[in-house]
Amino acid sequence: MTFEDLKLIPPILKALSKENYTAPTPIQEQAIPPVLEGRDLFGCAQTGTGKTAAFSLPIIQRLSQQQAVNGSKRRIRSLILTPTRELALQISDNMKAYGQFTNLRNIAIVGGVSQKEQERWLEQGADIVIATPGRLIDLMNQNLVDLRHVQILVLDEADRMLDMGFINDMKKIIAKLPTSRQTLFFSATMPPEISKLVQTLLKDPVKVEI
Ligand code: AMP
Repeated sequence: MTFEDLKLIPPILKALSKENYTAPTPIQEQAIPPVLEGRDLFGCAQTGTGKTAAFSLPIIQRLSQQQAVNGSKRRIRSLILTPTRELALQISDNMKAYGQFTNLRNIAIVGGVSQKEQERWLEQGADIVIATPGRLIDLMNQNLVDLRHVQILVLDEADRMLDMGFINDMKKIIAKLPTSRQTLFFSATMPPEISKLVQTLLKDPVKVEI
């Protein structure tokens, strides 16, 4: 199978070829078509499988196909929650590469660095926010983040977020999102608390296991 077979648009195909991605990985083959159709997804996959592109490519495609509202500030249309700063920065870098021929802007909102610069980025506007839960909650509590226009939520490494004690932060964040949205949920393991979350958050999900 090729990336063309997955019905990705030319600006994304161009970026993939520039990054020397020749063929999709199994999780990309399975996840990209349903996510492009707007389906919810549960992915049981580890890092290293190509999981990041599996959710990033269809998100970039869906958002870049929406008409830009002329002159108005970018709204956060996709939120990606991830357990660690390193992962968030990696996803942000990957998405910048995949979206380099689109006009989407993504920012990483993570702890351990000054908040001031992130406040400025939020003020300038972003289409996609990749965040660790703690820092995002801090900014939300100061009314500096508007999540009312989020259409696609990704919970990446949900089991690790749980292990790291982020469950209440995750719930608080999700409560601020529109209920009518697409949700993509990734977890390498399936403890009871994760099954419960999957049941409450996902609507008729496609399941992908690698
Ligand atoms: P991930 O599992 O998302 O952390 O990806 C693992 C590594 O594989 C990253 O360095 C990606 O850049 C790379 N990668 C992902 N998908 C592909 C692909 N289809 N072809 C070549 N490399 C890929």
